[in-house]
Amino acid sequence: MSEDLSHLLNHLGEDREHGYNAVVPPIVQSGNFTYPTVAAMRAVVQQEYDRPLYTRSYNPTVAMLRRKIAVLEHAEDALVFGSGSAAIAAAVIAHMKAGDHIVCVHKPYSWTKKLLTDLLPRFGVDHAFVDGTDAENYRRAIRPNTTFFITESPNSLTFELQDLAAVASIAKQHGIITLCDNSFNSPLFQNPIDSGIDMVAHSATKYLNGHSDVVAGVLAGTKERMRQVMMHEFMTLGAVPSPHDAWLLMRGLRTLELRVNRSADSAGKVARFLESHPRVKRVHWPGLESHPQHALALKQMKRVAGLMTIELDAPDVSAVERFCDHLRRFLIAVSWGGYESLQWPVCALQGPSGYYTDLPFNMVRLYIGLEDPQALIDDLSQALGRI
Ligand SMILES: *Cc1c(COP(=O)(O)O)cnc(C)c1O
Repeated sequence: MSEDLSHLLNHLGEDREHGYNAVVPPIVQSGNFTYPTVAAMRAVVQQEYDRPLYTRSYNPTVAMLRRKIAVLEHAEDALVFGSGSAAIAAAVIAHMKAGDHIVCVHKPYSWTKKLLTDLLPRFGVDHAFVDGTDAENYRRAIRPNTTFFITESPNSLTFELQDLAAVASIAKQHGIITLCDNSFNSPLFQNPIDSGIDMVAHSATKYLNGHSDVVAGVLAGTKERMRQVMMHEFMTLGAVPSPHDAWLLMRGLRTLELRVNRSADSAGKVARFLESHPRVKRVHWPGLESHPQHALALKQMKRVAGLMTIELDAPDVSAVERFCDHLRRFLIAVSWGGYESLQWPVCALQGPSGYYTDLPFNMVRLYIGLEDPQALIDDLSQALGRI
């Protein structure tokens, strides 16, 4: 990266001379753009990808964010979507036709799984889920019609890693396109493009925004590939962010380095405390030496971020509920990546709806936010005493 990180987060692409030299870029809250002549309009229509015509394709506030995301992910270009799921769906659908086959890591993000199991089969696209802890499982699952690999390293519930360089190299040997959901790591701790992955997606709702007040997604890759996705699936599906949300995301990015490192520092302290506690059977967090893929984590990730899952030594669901209900510093909620610590008990999603019935009831996912880590540990300690 030629840019230093602090410059990238705080200045790159902000073109202040086009915004009254305001220090903070103005929000271009406009749906469309006007031209002095027919010829001027005609020229822009040919270049909708990177010139303002209509906000679904290009908006100057969103464009600033696109530039920052591209540089952060060591990519040529990036697109911003109305959600992480939209980014993933557009990236996959852009590379599919009837008869194709996708190989995906098992236990991916729930709506990535739904894309493969619910939506794509209706259009003749088949899939296989593989245990990605051995990259060779991707090779073994290849069929003559396999065109796409999906990785999510680590996945955000059981934290299993895929060796991204190995998966990318298998893909290249077979002309297969690769996507990595990099939400967990943020672009600061892992850059899959450096390992040969073609496209990187994030739920920007999580670390990138970091304040639990925006739902958005990003996709990064080569300029040619991003242009293809933009001029077809992005524009057709139309899941665009509002300029205001793009602006909030840029505000969130200013503190990305501080937030993500704080969350990771505290997670290390919390994970070590939990690992040594008698009421905790297992801590799923790749930063621990006891994690079965710790060596791979050290190899391909700069640091391990602040999301983990614990398995409680609890006899039944009510014991899990006693622990969760007594936690004062961890809000019971889905999502993660904001300033606030969260808990997500698997047993809360194991009802008649049939969600997550394949996971043990004693699992609780913890997100470590920006609070004092000792206060979080004290809180966990008293709640563990309630089991
Ligand atoms: C939240 C999440 C998504 C989906 O992102 P949205 O912004 O909620 O659509 C995808 N992948 C991972 C790992 C996530 O945590």
